[in-house]
Amino acid sequence: MATINRNFRKLSAGYLFPEIARRAKTYQAAHPGVVLHKLGIGNTTEPLPPAVLAGLHAKVDGLGHADTYTGYGDEQGDTPLREALSGYYRQFGVKIDPEEFFVSDGAKADAANIQAIFDTGNVVAIQDPAYPVYVDSNVVSGRTGLFNRTLGQYDGFVYLPGTEENGFFPEPPHQKVDLIYLCSPNNPTGAVATHAQLQAFVDYARKHKAVIIFDAAYAEYIGDSSLPRTIYEIPGARECAIEINSFSKFAGFTGVRLGWTIVPKELVAEDSQPGELHTMWFRRQVTFFNGASNIAQAGGIAVLSPEGLSQSRAVIAYYMENARIIRDGLRSVGLTVFGGDNAPYLWVKTPGSLSSWDFFDQLLNQCQVIATPGAGFGAAGGQYIRVSAFGHRENIVKAVASIKNNLVITEEARS
Ligand SMILES: *Cc1c(COP(=O)(O)O)cnc(C)c1O
Repeated sequence: MATINRNFRKLSAGYLFPEIARRAKTYQAAHPGVVLHKLGIGNTTEPLPPAVLAGLHAKVDGLGHADTYTGYGDEQGDTPLREALSGYYRQFGVKIDPEEFFVSDGAKADAANIQAIFDTGNVVAIQDPAYPVYVDSNVVSGRTGLFNRTLGQYDGFVYLPGTEENGFFPEPPHQKVDLIYLCSPNNPTGAVATHAQLQAFVDYARKHKAVIIFDAAYAEYIGDSSLPRTIYEIPGARECAIEINSFSKFAGFTGVRLGWTIVPKELVAEDSQPGELHTMWFRRQVTFFNGASNIAQAGGIAVLSPEGLSQSRAVIAYYMENARIIRDGLRSVGLTVFGGDNAPYLWVKTPGSLSSWDFFDQLLNQCQVIATPGAGFGAAGGQYIRVSAFGHRENIVKAVASIKNNLVITEEARS
């Protein structure tokens, strides 16, 4: 008799995006022909630049000839790609050995899977709000109790709230925790940790033999050169941090699929020797995964070439100009806007004491704009909405104009 993994029953119904779709559909049915402006998506929209396309094409063509055909590649990812990644990190003054990179088909799967090399008894600290995979992967693995509907939180997690007061990047916990998930630049808040803020986490982790899982998927969106692009810019991070990153938002690879995880050789847990966690992740990946597509990996090498980098960064600049247009537009109607300076997300405070879902409905009904209610990312998002800068310029401009022309913020809400 088979029995199920009952931890799945603990998952709070992943109701954010289906509920957004349901409300949009209801609105659309009542208002046929009205076009909705989408500012909710966390998905890239602009075409791949020529240098990256050339890399992908060349690999596809190579697969058609016996002398250039390749099958399974190197276990941790193609060596030229890992060498190129190592070179990419050197520009931030950080030395990562090609053997410390594990190439994958994306950061989300790595973020979900990495917990498998840690004991199920570990206490997990999570930023609130957070990208949902950190939460759900640990729920399913049995590291929490039940979801507490009143609090909007799982029993057993240590939540680190991001608030206006702390600039949406929390301090390390006051109690002892074992695993800490951090995302900077942050999805959904757009906040970026400073060197000092990351140093505090690295110091905490070394003191408590905790491990930081650092998601840097938006690192390329940092324009301010004083902010860290990788946690390995922080002294001591090699002993206590795993970094996860991706070509998805960096180079428009959301559909192509390519990411990487760095497990430094010095990384230790309370009961492990240096090198052991690196070996365990190697074992996990070669056992359960057979590598990213060789076409995608050739595309990744092209992204990291000088032309690929400058062309991909031009696409990022385009999204960041979208972010500027949104920020200026929303501020001009009196909304309070955070983020969007070094990240493609803006974190917008709801007017007055509106809940994130009520403000979602207001934007939908008055402005025909779809944003993402902050409550979907955790309890601390309950009075915010996330606005995404991904989109074609003309659609962004129309959405912002609709907010400027149609949003009614009452005097009561303004004060
Ligand atoms: C989009 C995103 C990723 C990227 O996931 P992929 O699987 O590489 O597409 C990772 N982390 C965060 C926080 C994201 O928003």
